[in-house]
Amino acid sequence: MLFEQALMHLQSYFGYESFRRGQEETIRHILDGDNTACIMPTGGGKSLCYQIPALLLEGTTLVISPLISLMKDQVDALNAVGIPATYINSALTQTEVQERLEEVSLGAYKLLYVAPERLESPFFLEQLQSLPIPLVAVDEAHCISQWGHDFRPSYLRISQLIQQLSTNPIVVGLTATATPQVREDICQALNINEAHTVMTGFERKNLSFSVIKGQDRLAYIDSYVQKNEREAGIIYAATRQEVDQLHARLEKLGLRVSKYHAGMSAQSRDREQNRFLQDDVTVMVATSAFGMGIDKSNIRYVIHYQLPKNMESYYQEAGRAGRDGLPSECMVLYSPQDIRVQRYLIEQTTFNAAKQVQDLEKLQSMVNYCHTEGCLQAFVLHYFGEIDAPPCGRCSNCTDDRAEVDVTVETQKVLSCMIRMGERFGKMMIAQVLTGSKNKKVMDFHFDQLSTYGVMSNQSVKEVSDFIEFLISEQYILVGQGSFPTLSVAAKGKAVLLGEEHVMRKEQIATKQLVQDDELFNHLRIVRKEIAEFENVPPFVIFSDDTLRDMCAKLPVTIEQFATVKGVGQQKQERYGEQFIQAIDEFCMKNPNRKRQVIEIESAKKAKSKSTSKEGSHAVSYQLMKEGLTIQEVATERELSIQTIENHLFRCAEEGMEIDWSAFMTDEQQEKIIEAVKLVGNEKLKPIKEQLPSDITYFMIKIVLFLEGSQKV
Ligand code: ADP
Ligand code: ZN
Repeated sequence: MLFEQALMHLQSYFGYESFRRGQEETIRHILDGDNTACIMPTGGGKSLCYQIPALLLEGTTLVISPLISLMKDQVDALNAVGIPATYINSALTQTEVQERLEEVSLGAYKLLYVAPERLESPFFLEQLQSLPIPLVAVDEAHCISQWGHDFRPSYLRISQLIQQLSTNPIVVGLTATATPQVREDICQALNINEAHTVMTGFERKNLSFSVIKGQDRLAYIDSYVQKNEREAGIIYAATRQEVDQLHARLEKLGLRVSKYHAGMSAQSRDREQNRFLQDDVTVMVATSAFGMGIDKSNIRYVIHYQLPKNMESYYQEAGRAGRDGLPSECMVLYSPQDIRVQRYLIEQTTFNAAKQVQDLEKLQSMVNYCHTEGCLQAFVLHYFGEIDAPPCGRCSNCTDDRAEVDVTVETQKVLSCMIRMGERFGKMMIAQVLTGSKNKKVMDFHFDQLSTYGVMSNQSVKEVSDFIEFLISEQYILVGQGSFPTLSVAAKGKAVLLGEEHVMRKEQIATKQLVQDDELFNHLRIVRKEIAEFENVPPFVIFSDDTLRDMCAKLPVTIEQFATVKGVGQQKQERYGEQFIQAIDEFCMKNPNRKRQVIEIESAKKAKSKSTSKEGSHAVSYQLMKEGLTIQEVATERELSIQTIENHLFRCAEEGMEIDWSAFMTDEQQEKIIEAVKLVGNEKLKPIKEQLPSDITYFMIKIVLFLEGSQKV
């Protein structure tokens, strides 16, 4: 019974049809009164597992969440769907804290988020004791474990707190960390019977993983980011300096890009992070310092410019892509030189010998990932203990159907040239000799006398140096130390020179455009952004990309249809429905092909549904206008914007209702608009408006365009 209500809440608040894997089981355990551990990958939907029970249980659910930034977003997101929630953390003054606690005791909130550090204060604990708390949700519960990668000492206070609460609450611990040791620690610390652990697989079905090697990394990034310039993505680099360089490079290409690393002031880090969260920029170039506590759901790609230090941090960082469930990509741009850098970092920063060995082993697993020919997703899952994960069918290995070319002779040319040059030079110099450059340094060393001078002169220096990079990645060539390393022939390369081994090279991996450009989607993104700015929340709190995509597919005309869009619950339907329907309308008006389709679908639906559908909102406005009200008056009466009412009129006209457009402008004004349209075209409204005197409104222009359009149709 209670569970049926849970399903209803899922639909009416969150606008989702059914529970995902693991959600139902977790919620059932909680509603049965059992302490529960919930282990799901990032983006799996852990939040709903305690938010829905919070709605059903009497009192205020306490959520312990480690990150202040995340807390605010989660509370914003709950308020946006109509669930009263608040938070208490160090950003508040003592008076504000008191006020919020009082409100909680009066039952004003269904959820209260607190930072674990708060639990250090005995005074605060005392105040919590008497509150009606039926459920305690411990988010990022792995922070309880010393074995986890983010151990937080204040998490150890949690069990003490729970014991002190007078209401004897149910406890749920949630995390994306799956190792058995961490799981055990969570169960022990939170008094959870291990049988009540809900664990879903760690596969991320919407992510496709790739390893790009033997290719020019910068060229790859340039091309990838430009092709996907409207999509949000993170590029991780190993050092601050590299972050700065990549950032400057992409900025120069005219891309909207932010950066983040520990060398920046707290203030500028905050600013840059916000620009990214608010969709003001699309690309974030950062060190691994960036990302904790970021739950931006519409990140479409994560690129690692260098080899990450281990699988744990890689899966966590890459996993920030695609929380909204839409297809997203995670790429490592692999170059074997990076191994040395990472190894050096481990040796310099880890002084405990056993830990050093462990870290080096972890690094080796990461290198193996880059070299495996099997499924990449399966490799990761296997690493985390899912032994028999099947191939994913999406990663760069599963989908690799590139043709192979025999490049043995070319390889021999490169390697023998290196030997003739004494194996004392770097990639560029070798490429210059092979292509027959007249560069001064080449001449000074008399390399033009070598038999291999110019043997690859049919290629550019860049092509040859890319080829050398490929030979490095396949370990035919070894790279020396230092920032301008010299190259030498590896054992595997010597076998090629002796004719004992053939070298095959695959075509380069081309960068992909992630999503088809959809003008309506872009238009809806702008609408979302405007609303988000107005409400001072990140755009993904208003609607996820997935929801906007579903709007594009469904093209809702009535508010009832809008309610069927995935991710639209009751409150969001009421708050934003009109605005989005209006935006879709406007777009369809300018793009008649799209609209016609809708009308056809609509009329088909209507025919089926025996005219039981309610009268549309636009018809109500029409009726009021017929009764003699002005647009302004209808807007006031219906508590809608003037623009919405104007759009209602267009929709009525499309459906064949009669409207006297001449009432809205004089003939002379109409003439002027027609002239302006001839001059600047009918693509955009603004340039037309700029041609005209200020007494001519956008609405008048839209009428003229509408009339022109309907004549054409
Ligand atoms: P996690 O905390 O596990 O990383 P979230 O709770 O942030 O994941 O959920 C990720 C996304 O999935 C959110 O956009 C959320 O709204 C969505 N989501 C959660 N449950 C469902 C569901 N049952 N159906 C559709 N979408 C869901
Ligand atoms: Zn695969």
